[in-house]
Amino acid sequence: MRHGLGYDRHLPGCSALVVILHKCARRSAKPCPESVLTVPCDMLVFGGTGDLALHKLLPALYHLHRDGRLAAQTRILALARQPLSRADYQSLAERRCRAQVARADFDTATWQSFAERLDYFAMDVSQSADFGRLAKRLDSHERVQVYYLATAPDLFEDIAAHLATAGLAGPLSRIVLEKPIGHSLDSAKAINAAIGAVFDESRVFRIDHYLGKETVQNLMALRFANALFEPIWRAGHIDHVQISVCETLGVENRGAYYDRSGAMRDMLQNHLLQLLCLVAMEAPVRFDAEAVRDEKLKVLQALKPIHGLDVQDTTVRGQYVAGKIGGQEVPAYYFEKNVDNDSDTETFVALHAEIDNWRWAGVPFYLRTGKRLAKKSSEIVIQFKPVPHRLFNGGEANCLLIRLQPEERISLQLMAKAPGKGMRLEPVELDLNLAQAFQQKRRWDAYERLLLDVIEGDSTLFMRRDEVEAAWSWIDPILRGWHEYYQSPRPYPAGSSGPEQAHGLLERHGRAWHE
Ligand code: NAP
Repeated sequence: MRHGLGYDRHLPGCSALVVILHKCARRSAKPCPESVLTVPCDMLVFGGTGDLALHKLLPALYHLHRDGRLAAQTRILALARQPLSRADYQSLAERRCRAQVARADFDTATWQSFAERLDYFAMDVSQSADFGRLAKRLDSHERVQVYYLATAPDLFEDIAAHLATAGLAGPLSRIVLEKPIGHSLDSAKAINAAIGAVFDESRVFRIDHYLGKETVQNLMALRFANALFEPIWRAGHIDHVQISVCETLGVENRGAYYDRSGAMRDMLQNHLLQLLCLVAMEAPVRFDAEAVRDEKLKVLQALKPIHGLDVQDTTVRGQYVAGKIGGQEVPAYYFEKNVDNDSDTETFVALHAEIDNWRWAGVPFYLRTGKRLAKKSSEIVIQFKPVPHRLFNGGEANCLLIRLQPEERISLQLMAKAPGKGMRLEPVELDLNLAQAFQQKRRWDAYERLLLDVIEGDSTLFMRRDEVEAAWSWIDPILRGWHEYYQSPRPYPAGSSGPEQAHGLLERHGRAWHE
């Protein structure tokens, strides 16, 4: 906290943040012992040779192993079609983990002990017979079996059905589904029904790795473990909310997938709406899976529909054209690998959402996400209303910034008097530096936390079936509106802050994106 105790006598609000810091400091002096899982499990990673598995899941499992959090008998089995031996797969995984894990955290002895858990099984998930072979390979069904589907969603239904036929969907088994769950309400319902026919809902983990981020969970702590914000967390005090997830990357190797999906389906339908839910939800009666998800669902159901011609006033689609990022020339989206030359897929979307309920009526929620933007950043901005009566010249309204990327931090912008003669006001930031307060050596990756939750069977941070379907129910009419009132994507140069029209979305209400 940069401007700590010095301000709390003058500025209401500071004192409570100071209390937060004191609590952090107390906790950091006596760290809470974290549990080591004793449940032995088989972690089966379908799509084990894919980018998600090698880039995210295996490094997360390596870290959990290194930190001693996996039970001794836990085994990891990667599955894909490529005919690889166990040794081939281990060396592929080692190469990718070495590149991904910080140098200080990677050592050969730890890798070798991790690799003993690691095996590979070649199979085609569209072939029922291959699941028979798999069942024989898994000698014990007395262990927790986690089926992590790191594959395209069009394989989910086959995998669930074949697992059932092969007798692999017993009561100790769990299934993890990666986003996107479908590409529309109907396809999401079909996937959910197929999975639900085999696994009851308590054993289905729909992962959204944003919910595994420390700062996102801290948003809940900030709101529900502190009395300070609750009275002002509502329409009377909040002017508007912004949620931005900006990437500098393009589509990389995912052109074929992305061109069928676009920013709305790939990002907004899941990550941004989940963040919106956490900002807007009521306090759950308990911090458990059903109570938390009941409250998130109510937010999704209260989203004011955007359909038909509404899309023209409340949404902006964009697509990047050639430009420069970090001094490097990058091509237009339609020249990316595996993308149609006349593609009209959006690589950027911004929209103005409203939540029709008692707490939020009339408060705009501005959401935006895009690729090839000037800066990588993911943040939530809670913009409070200005003071009702101005005593001083100048000054800005308070704003709470919850940043998920590039660094995780929470800061509250307050107005303070600048030193010297006269009441010259300047914004100062009360910075909640969580990494420092907890003296953390290493930030956990979201996948580490979520994988442990799956093994423990805790689905609080995973999306329930009705949540996913409610999100699609709101998104589908926007997609239809784009189609019916043909809204072609507005071009924006790579390395810019998106199409001009996205700025216009706020400017017409006298507001601007937080940059
Ligand atoms: P990917 O690199 O294309 O990997 C797909 C994997 O599925 C490969 O291991 C592939 O191996 C396997 N596969 C495909 N068809 C198969 C079949 N019939 N039988 C068995 N295995 C099969 O894709 P990805 O980037 O890892 O993404 C996977 C899913 O996760 C996608 O839906 C994506 O949208 C989602 N996702 C990815 C990320 C990420 O960071 N990459 C993040 C969030 C969500 P073989 O070809 O050898 O069979």
